Amino acid sequence: MTETHEGRCHCGATTLQFTGKSESTFFCHCQDCQRTTGSPFSVGLMVASDGFSCAGELSTYTVTGDSGQAVHRRSCAKCGSGLFLECDADPDFVFVKAGALDDPSCVEPEMHIFVSAKQPWVKIADDLPQFERMPPE
Ligand SMILES: [Zn+2]
Ligand SMILES: [Zn+2]
Repeated sequence: MTETHEGRCHCGATTLQFTGKSESTFFCHCQDCQRTTGSPFSVGLMVASDGFSCAGELSTYTVTGDSGQAVHRRSCAKCGSGLFLECDADPDFVFVKAGALDDPSCVEPEMHIFVSAKQPWVKIADDLPQFERMPPE
């Protein structure tokens, strides 16, 4: 049985879905996530791009990621909700924002990344592994 996860932006004009489990799920404390979400960190799910699809008009903001390659931040063109990221360095995966899922309660974070940029007032209260930047390959 294949599990399918669905999500959407705040206004509902853009929807997404993916099948299967996430390869990895993480808290990202990087400055780009802080700036683009207006929050101290984001939670992302790394899912296979071949099981991922979305419908609706997207707006894309492209920046240079930690890898030196482009990171495409996709949001709903209408309401601006951040939905997912695509990284040129990792074309086989899409990074879905946990808050965009219809049922984010099923998300099981496994690690903290870019802890070097974490705000001092964010206290990590779990025993998950922490990485200064990206986890080692
Ligand atoms: Zn929207
Ligand atoms: Zn980040």
